[in-house]
Amino acid sequence: MLFGGQPRRGELRVLVDFLRLDGFSREATLLRSHRDLRPIAASLLKSHSLPTESRFFLTVPLSRIARCGSAWSCPQIPCFPSVFSFGFSLKLSMTSSSNPESELGFGTQSVHAGEARQKPNDAITDSICCASTYTFESTQSILDYLKENHDREEYGRYGNPNEKVVERKLAVLEGAEDAILYSSGMAAIVGLLMCKLSAGDEIIFFDQCYHRSREFCVKHLSRFGVVTHQVKTGDMGAMESAINSKTKMLVSESPTNPHLTVIDLEAFVAIGKRHGIETLIDSTLATPYNLKPIAWGVDYVWHSATKYMGGHNDLLAGVICGSKQKLEPVRKLRGILGSINSPHNMYLLERGLKTFALRMERHNHNGQRIAEFLESHPRVQRVYYPGLKSHPSHAFAKKTMKGFSGLITFLVKDADWKQTAAIIDKCKIPRIGPSLGGVESLIEQPMVMSYFDYPIEQREQFGIYDNMIRMAVGIEDTDDLIEDLRQALEAC
Ligand code: PLP
Repeated sequence: MLFGGQPRRGELRVLVDFLRLDGFSREATLLRSHRDLRPIAASLLKSHSLPTESRFFLTVPLSRIARCGSAWSCPQIPCFPSVFSFGFSLKLSMTSSSNPESELGFGTQSVHAGEARQKPNDAITDSICCASTYTFESTQSILDYLKENHDREEYGRYGNPNEKVVERKLAVLEGAEDAILYSSGMAAIVGLLMCKLSAGDEIIFFDQCYHRSREFCVKHLSRFGVVTHQVKTGDMGAMESAINSKTKMLVSESPTNPHLTVIDLEAFVAIGKRHGIETLIDSTLATPYNLKPIAWGVDYVWHSATKYMGGHNDLLAGVICGSKQKLEPVRKLRGILGSINSPHNMYLLERGLKTFALRMERHNHNGQRIAEFLESHPRVQRVYYPGLKSHPSHAFAKKTMKGFSGLITFLVKDADWKQTAAIIDKCKIPRIGPSLGGVESLIEQPMVMSYFDYPIEQREQFGIYDNMIRMAVGIEDTDDLIEDLRQALEAC
């Protein structure tokens, strides 16, 4: 039994979360077993006098796990006698992974997954393949390709080799069968929804979300006869009540932008499954480093890869992850819509992903420390950060996430929009601008940056206040960022 550390090849790592003894997060090759682990958790609490909020990793050698029918069992855990004496048996919902990369740690996956070991010209990096078209040796080779569906390129709108490497890498990181890359995050959601919805269908959104996602659904999908219902974020009862026979998809961000509300994915997925409706999570703010929605049973995971995945504020990209079968028509439609990304951007994204784990570790660290600093500062009225106990969805954040990323939203005490803007203008390190997830910290006032055209009543309905600041914490030194924020808050 381990209380931390990375699993090695051939080991199963189970994250046991004492906060909820009947639900467990998944990590790496993972497990969704509930009641069977309850006695272990209870016994650990007792035998190790652990506080009720502890988390630990139980690492089981895969050689000890035997298959029984469609499930897997582990009748003995020799390194863990107290479990042994319970005669407990792990029931794993995972199937044996056919991709050995899925057993590697996140950092190793970020660096190596999806890439050929030996690349053209024996280069260690993938070369950029700029071609817009790909040629065939003969008519016969075209016929072979069409008949046998050979895995090769044909025309740049359908795919390119650089994109394929990154799609494989992202699928492994997300724990998904497949991933489809797009020219931006918005292109990805448009591509998915255009494929899955038809006139007369309905979708249900939680109301805290990226304003352009809302705009696309409410203003544009509606022109094609698709109805969007918005319900209060996290209100599972309201979501379930809004379902009718036309409902085709349930959609949420987790955490949401900019309020950082974390969704109870177990309840969200359960509603979808009860009604036979597909679920979609925009996991941009969490990233697969912190959250694995597919492991919770979500059908589609959507990211703006422009953010943490790219990580350097130098590219736009989007990705949808899910099962091969569900994504097949989505990929076909992308080939028609033409929302593919360029090989140059894919090279940058692949390069950015090499340091994904390291960057996320730092974003998580900086986010937590800066949120704590802001919460303790007398000029600050309220901080929205899921890693803070004061955040209304802190318990769901702890249940589903490994860390809480780098986005922090806060309200300045007794400040109007101009006084709030003055604090932003006083900051010396974070640049003023939209976006998040890059190595450079960014700061902005949502009311000015994203909601300037909205009437005040509508802004307030969306929870956007004049004294609200959103900071996307980068990977700079924590103390420098704190000191900079302190001087800005105290100067105005
Ligand atoms: N989802 C979230 C949570 C976002 O913040 C954004 C952009 O800010 C998007 C999606 C859209 O992504 P992109 O800008 O890559 O189109």
